[in-house]
Order: sequence, then structure tokens, then C-alpha cells
Amino acid sequence: MNQSSELTELEERYGAHNYHPLPVVLAEGEGAWVTDTEGRRYLDWLSAYSAVNFGHGHPRLIGAAKAQLDRITLASRAFHTDQLGPFCAELAELCGKDAVLPMNTGAEAVETAIKAARKWGYTRKGVAADRARIIVFDGNFHGRTTTIVGFSSDPESREGFGPFAPGFDSVPYGDIEALNAAVTPDTVAVLIEPVQGEGGVIIPPEGYLAAVRATCDANGLLMIADEIQTGLARTGHTFACDREQVRPDVYLLGKALGGGIMPVSAVAADREVMDVFTPGTHGSTFGGNPLAAAVGREVVAMLATGEWQQRARDLGKHLEQALDGLDKSKVDAIRVCGLWAGVDLAEGGPTAREVCERMAALGVLCKETHHRTVRIAPPLVIEPHEIDRGVEILAQAIAEA
Ligand code: PLP
Repeated sequence: MNQSSELTELEERYGAHNYHPLPVVLAEGEGAWVTDTEGRRYLDWLSAYSAVNFGHGHPRLIGAAKAQLDRITLASRAFHTDQLGPFCAELAELCGKDAVLPMNTGAEAVETAIKAARKWGYTRKGVAADRARIIVFDGNFHGRTTTIVGFSSDPESREGFGPFAPGFDSVPYGDIEALNAAVTPDTVAVLIEPVQGEGGVIIPPEGYLAAVRATCDANGLLMIADEIQTGLARTGHTFACDREQVRPDVYLLGKALGGGIMPVSAVAADREVMDVFTPGTHGSTFGGNPLAAAVGREVVAMLATGEWQQRARDLGKHLEQALDGLDKSKVDAIRVCGLWAGVDLAEGGPTAREVCERMAALGVLCKETHHRTVRIAPPLVIEPHEIDRGVEILAQAIAEA
């Protein structure tokens, strides 16, 4: 038995069955490339669902983490640390907000925003106790806690996990009239992905985010932008909301904020919202720990020059042109947003999973989302010729799978 099948067997035997991994056992990563236990190299076109925005082992991020490992890595929140304040200040400045509340995973940031919005609704808007409602969107993905899956429209995420928390109304994504019709006097917030990532890189119609902003303004609602997947340069802008010059009241960040090294998430908002939290009302053992803060600070510093945002725009155009050459009889739709794309495969052809498995065998790692969409999210360090190679392999996989 070779090493990778032994390792796969161990995972299957002792790991919980919460994933359906591609048949590749990864051991190393550098830049846009990863290597399996047999020494085979693959282009990482999945970038861990965009958490590895800056590539594997980026020297600046590794350097920041290593320097902090030699100092202090975890401290009780009973103390200040010399990393937390600067991290919050620098991230707040990037977001144009007054304050930052650091957490660990994306779902925790979403939960934090739900709590903030409800308390803001009761204490600032005058909504009666326990009546606050939040509008969400069909096809959303905001994480896996029981509250969050409770307002998912995906049966696989929900089934068997109820009962769910009340207080959410789901409307079709991209339909402003449906949103307006769903607002009630008890509505406190709209929770939106500016582009739906897990949904398949679904880009709303032009002007939609600005219209959502206008609805929030007209009705005194918080606009909460879940930029956990879209944020931090992926779409060619620091935030996907920047595409329409929209400023939400609350930003949720995660994934790439951890620099591909560790989980780091955060909520950024103005004091009017953030001050609903007082000592003891919310917290996290690990949120804002010195190691996470040091890595997060380096990510924020890397985004300061706009170089990565520009790179995502330029490489995104390159990707779009390359994808345009795919056989249109086998592809129903292609959506590109910065260096990020969803390719819908035509009915009757191979499934997205089959295509991703074939691509892995040919040396490119990609991830399906739902049944028919191949999602492409390469690290921003990828080179144009590597994009071309990946698209050739995608075309071959679609033809062969
Ligand atoms: N929000 C969005 C938009 C996401 O794409 C995800 C994860 O894919 C999450 C939240 C949840 O993040 P995490 O898996 O870190 O909890």
C-alpha cells in the first residue's frame, strides 16, 4: 500500500465524514502550487475557497507569523496585547469604520453581526423584545452554525439539524422589489453576500447593491456585507461592495484575513453599532489572539498599496478571455468577477464533481459547488501562463470526464 492510500484510509477511518475530498493527498504548498505525498505537483485553482489569497507560504505572511511565534501567541483577554490594538486600528482604517471585533471563523463573525444587529434593533431602533427580523437571500452561504443553516435554502445544509432560530426572512437574490416587500417594522438588518460564492459566484445585477443600500437607508436597516469570501482583493477591489461604491454598515471578513495560515475573522462597523457590545456581552477565547493579530496586520499591510487588487483585476480579465474559448455547447454560463469564476456545465454532460476529479488527475485542483458549477479561485500570485494551462486542462476535463 502506498503512503497516500494509507493516509487516506486513516482519514476515512478516524476522521468524521464531513467532507468529500478530491482523491489527492496534499503534503506541501508554495505559491500557486501544491505537492502531494507522491511528489506530484498541482496548480491550486481552489486556493482553499479563497482563504489562500496570497498563495501558499507567502514570505511576508510566514515572516509575520514566525516573528510572533517567538514572542507571545495566546494571551488571556484579561490583558491588552501589543498586537490587538494595532490590528483593530489598521483593519478599521482599511474598512473606513470606527471599530473592529476580531473573531476566528467566518461563521463566528456572522453570528457576531446577527447579535449586534438584533441588539442594535432593540436598543437604537426601538423594536420590541425578541421580535427583531433579519432579511437574508435565497442561495446564501454564511457558515454552518445552527442559526446560520436555519436560514439556508440548501436542503443539504439544513436537513436534520433543526429546530432553527426564528427571525429570518429569505428573499430572491438580485430582486430589489422582493427585498422591499419583505421589510417590516421589526426588520433590523439585511445580511448579504455582495457576490454569492458558494452559490456559484453569482453576481447580482448592476446597481443592485446600491439599491439594497438605498432600501436600508429608507427603512433604517443595517446593511451587513458578508465579505468573508469576496473581500480582501479577490474581486479586484478591497471589498466587493466597492464595485458599486457601496459602503455597508457592517463588514464581515474572514478566510483571506488569516493569510492562508490560520483562522482569523472580524466584524468592522461604526461605534453606533459596535457599542451595543459591552464587557461581558460577547467574546471569544481565541478572537484577536496575538498570533492571529500579527498575521491579520500583515494581510492588511499587503492590501494597502492596491497592488493585489489591481493584480486580481488584470488576471481576472486574462481568465475571462481564456474561459471564453471553452466549448459553448458544453457550458451554460461563465461568470467572472476579479480573479474568481463560476463555470456552469451544460445539463446532460459531466457533473462539476466529475470534471473536478478529472482536473485533479490532470494536475489542477478545482472545487465544484452544487451539482453543475466549477468554481475557480486561484491564489493572486498565479501567473497568466498558469491560468492558460489551467483553462486548457478544464477544457480537456470537460471533454473527457
Ligand atoms: N460567509 C461566507 C460568504 C462564506 O463563503 C463562508 C465559508 O465558505 C462563511 C461565511 C463561513 O466561514 P467559515 O467556514 O470560516 O466559518
